[in-house]
Amino acid sequence: MALTTAQYRELDSAHFLHPFTDHRRMHKTGARIIERAEGIYLWDSDGNKLLDGMAGLWCVNVGYGRKELAEVARQQMETLPYYNTFFQTAHPPVIDLSQLLSEVTPPHLNHVFLTNSGSESNDTVVRMARYFWSCMGHPEKQVIISRRNAYHGSTVAGASLGGMAAMHAQGGLPIPDIVHIGQPYWYREGGDLSPDDFGKQVAGELEKKIEELGEHRVAAFIAEPVQGAGGVIVPPDSYWPEIKAICKRHQILLVADEVICGFGRTGEWFGSDYYDIDPDLMPIAKGLSSGYLPIGGVMVADHVVRVIIDEGGEFAHGMTYAGHPAACAVAAANIRILRDEGIIDTVRDDTGPYLQQCWRELGDHPLVGEVRGLGFLGALELVADKKTRAPFEPADQTGALCRDIAADLGLVMRAVGDSMIISPPLIMRRNQIDDLVALALKSLDDTLSALRN
Ligand SMILES: *Cc1c(COP(=O)(O)O)cnc(C)c1O
Repeated sequence: MALTTAQYRELDSAHFLHPFTDHRRMHKTGARIIERAEGIYLWDSDGNKLLDGMAGLWCVNVGYGRKELAEVARQQMETLPYYNTFFQTAHPPVIDLSQLLSEVTPPHLNHVFLTNSGSESNDTVVRMARYFWSCMGHPEKQVIISRRNAYHGSTVAGASLGGMAAMHAQGGLPIPDIVHIGQPYWYREGGDLSPDDFGKQVAGELEKKIEELGEHRVAAFIAEPVQGAGGVIVPPDSYWPEIKAICKRHQILLVADEVICGFGRTGEWFGSDYYDIDPDLMPIAKGLSSGYLPIGGVMVADHVVRVIIDEGGEFAHGMTYAGHPAACAVAAANIRILRDEGIIDTVRDDTGPYLQQCWRELGDHPLVGEVRGLGFLGALELVADKKTRAPFEPADQTGALCRDIAADLGLVMRAVGDSMIISPPLIMRRNQIDDLVALALKSLDDTLSALRN
């Protein structure tokens, strides 16, 4: 189907309801139609080339156009396009992927429960954490503690775990027994404390919450190693050691949501490796298949698996397409690309530090209040006044303006409120990083000019 942009837009508006989209606003301008992609670049239906600073939606870690992933999918679909994994069945690709995941994830995580997305993985976390405690003889341990401004997906349980007020407002969320504490967002919430003191203080909220609820009622704490959709919020170094100690002290499961941080985003295989988190459950998705096919999962620690197998009966949970043969084959091939081509090592040792160094230079720009980042994640928080950190009023418009200006210049960045976010494909070379940062700088300059006019 090759139509003109106007024709695509007309049909799109007539028939397609987009996720996370204000349709009334979109129908005025029309959707951006992306037709093809190669490496780190996208092409839209007007032939414009865009540098994809977001790796799709934080997921195309190996970049676009890897023919061997298409080939693996094709072969698998010819051999066995579908079979389920319910009721004591399996197939070669699901076994291969499970074994490979046990190798690349932290040593004590040797089993995976597969799903089709990050949201389903977090739904699984809610059920599995509660099920684990009931197998342990503590069915009253039900409460899951999460954080404000967290993102854990868009299903009912995922959005409940998430800490987005706007999402809770739609559909009567959160569901019962999910509560939220503060986030380690030093720039906006740290007050006069040093980052490390603030990190400890905000981690301490977890202990207070556990004591307030009673340890006997708390099943788990869930957090992203680095908050992604909340604005690439990199916690102070003091934060994770404190969280880890509190979870151990109080016998609650620690869940590291690695849907963004996993598969090399931080320069290590997992954010849990970077921060030495030692999670009991570890949801994964996105970079697991580099987005080539939908797949997610939950890595489960040995001690949790043992209880579920020894004490539980049937865990009554699962999705028809979970462990889909083609998705598993593609995910396994994607992991082998990441591993055998040394892509994650390059991010850790060379391109990650280089990106961070170049990105930090944007902090001198008059619009930028704070530069954040780690590995191949970055944020620029735009402010009305650098000295006082005063945000723009009304909020969210400057970020959207800068995002649209960047897109017109050929760079995809995302706006989270007034923070500009990048999460590029991990295959970016130094000269491409130079291009990205130059385009980001020009976007900031043009945004500043637009604001002054
Ligand atoms: C994207 C994301 C999810 C949800 O994943 P979906 O595949 O969109 O359902 C969950 N957790 C985190 C941290 C995410 O970034």
